[in-house]
This record gives sequence, structure tokens and C-alpha cells, in this order.
Amino acid sequence: MIIVLKPGTSKEDCDRILDQIAATGLKPLYLPGTERTVLGAIGDERVLAGLHLEGNPHVETVTPILSPYKLVSRELHPHDTVVPLGPGARIGSDRFVVVAGPCAVESREQLDATAERVKEAGASVLRGGAFKPRTSPYSFQGLGRDGLALLSEVGRRRGLPVVTEVVDVSDLDAVVEHADMIQVGARNMQNFRLLQAVGQCPRPVLLKRGPAATVTDLLMAAEYVVAEGNPNVVLCERGIRTFETATRNTLDLSAVPFVKQRSHLPILVDPSHGTGIRDLVTPMALAAAACGADGLIVEVHENPEVALSDGKQSLFPEQFAALMAALRPFVEAGGRHL
Ligand code: PEP
Ligand code: MN
Repeated sequence: MIIVLKPGTSKEDCDRILDQIAATGLKPLYLPGTERTVLGAIGDERVLAGLHLEGNPHVETVTPILSPYKLVSRELHPHDTVVPLGPGARIGSDRFVVVAGPCAVESREQLDATAERVKEAGASVLRGGAFKPRTSPYSFQGLGRDGLALLSEVGRRRGLPVVTEVVDVSDLDAVVEHADMIQVGARNMQNFRLLQAVGQCPRPVLLKRGPAATVTDLLMAAEYVVAEGNPNVVLCERGIRTFETATRNTLDLSAVPFVKQRSHLPILVDPSHGTGIRDLVTPMALAAAACGADGLIVEVHENPEVALSDGKQSLFPEQFAALMAALRPFVEAGGRHL
């Protein structure tokens, strides 16, 4: 419910209404504006109806929030959220952000060589998985906590904030210690306990769309994180499972403008997992920039032919540099700059 107060309502009267909302068990929100103060009440709106706030002399209007997600909806929060990410980096401003790095942290040498090349080409955030939930239990499963330590070491050395995936609540403290942003992978998008746990962490969250999730499911998953008190969520479109077998997934770029119209959260596109094919990564990355994405997350490996995971979709460093060099007009078409 969105409650708009009349101009000139005192802070005491406003606090009284917030207390009334809290007393019903709903979550009260205080959203002061330059001209009007707006209050929010989040939860089961049938409960709020019992308060009859329309009759309060300080209340101008009471409007239900129509979308199933509330906190992440533009109805409640019309302005874009800009997510701060380590020193200097932000996602969701008018600056397009590129996150790049290997699928998995394999060794200090592999990570450092890749980090050097992606930074040189213009990436501003380093990615690398330490916990790798693979389709097969016999595939490389990542270096675990040793991988986290390598990631933060290399990120620091190269001056790049780092993002890595958490797959289990028991690893969360270690991930918070080493990472500037916590990734929730596609397969965990509806792991609600994990979403609630990252919602209580002092780090931004990169939430990837599940392979069989609708965009509304993605936004509802983000709502879980924000409802726990963490407003810094970055969404990620990484392709969904369809009947198409030519590509690993079907990259649903229509999700980008759909999300931008309905939510204030930033959204990145992952053309690597979205296609699974190296030669399709650049065209889809350019298309993602043009349709208004806030940035990209791209897999790059210093030598993809020997990569322990996702080599087929990982760009060679020179391909990544060519992608970065081609981006500008597409980013500008999408209303941002590099
Ligand atoms: C990844 O980014 O390394 C990853 C595993 O992606 P997804 O969860 O989208 O499959
Ligand atoms: Mn991968």
C-alpha cells in the first residue's frame, strides 16, 4: 500500500501512522520526498484495510501496490537503484558496467593473467567461481575457500572489485569476507533460505534468473532479499531453457526492458551462459547493451581451450578486447555511456 501524506504533515503525525502500520504486523516504510512524504506498508494488504487510513486527516491517498513484488517495484520506488560495489564501482547509474573473468578460479596464474587482460580491455569488476555447482558431480567443482582467497588477492592486486557465487549458507561468512558482491546462481534463484541469508549480508547481491523462472519469479526472488534489509540487488538475465537446442539457453533479452519498466533494480546480461557458444557472445552482448541493460557479465579465460569449466563459451582475451572496443555505440543506443 502506498500512503501519500498531505503537504505540511508533521514528523510526529507521520510517526504515529508508521506506528499504526507496524502494530498490524506490516512492514512500514518512510519515504520522504521534496514535496510530499510517502509511506509504504508491505505485507498482507487485507490487514491494512482494517486501519481505514483513508479517513486519517493527514492522509491524501491510499493506493494498493498492484504488482506481486512490492519493494522492488517502481510503483513504490520510481527512481533507479544504484548499487555501490567496492571502491569506485557502481551498477545502475548511467555508466555501463562490464564484469568479466573466468567461469572458475583455477589457479593464481590463470586468474591473474585473465584479470590483467580484462582490466586492460576496460572491465571494471572481476568474476570467478570458487564453488562450482556443475551439472555433473564428476566435473571440476571449484577450489572452494582457497579459490575465494585467490580471488580477493588478485582483485586487490589488479584494483578490481570481485564477484563470486555462494551455493550454501554455511559458506556465506567466507564469501562476505572475500567478495565485494555475492552471486546467487541460476540454480539457486528460488533457494529461499539462501535468499534470506544474503538479504542479511552487508554485500550487494547479483541474482541470476533461474533456467525455468519467469521474470516475475526473478523479481519475487529479489523481493526476498530486499525484504530482509539488503536493498542492493542486481538482477541478471542469463538465458532460460526452451525447446531450442542450437544454443545452451535462450537469452531472453525482452526481460531487460520488461524489468526496467517495472523495477528500479539494475539488470546485467550474461551472454556467456545465455548462449553457451563463444562466437555468439559478442553479438548478444552488443544487443544487450542496445536494449538498455546496465551492464554485462562475460566469461573470459586466458586460454579457453584448457579451461576447467565453460571453455566453449569463454572468450579469448583478444575477443573480449574486441567486444569492449565495439560496445560504445550500442551502449549509447541503450541510453548509457562507457
Ligand atoms: C556462473 O556465472 O558461473 C554460473 C554458474 O552461472 P549460472 O548460475 O547462470 O548458470
Ligand atoms: Mn560458467
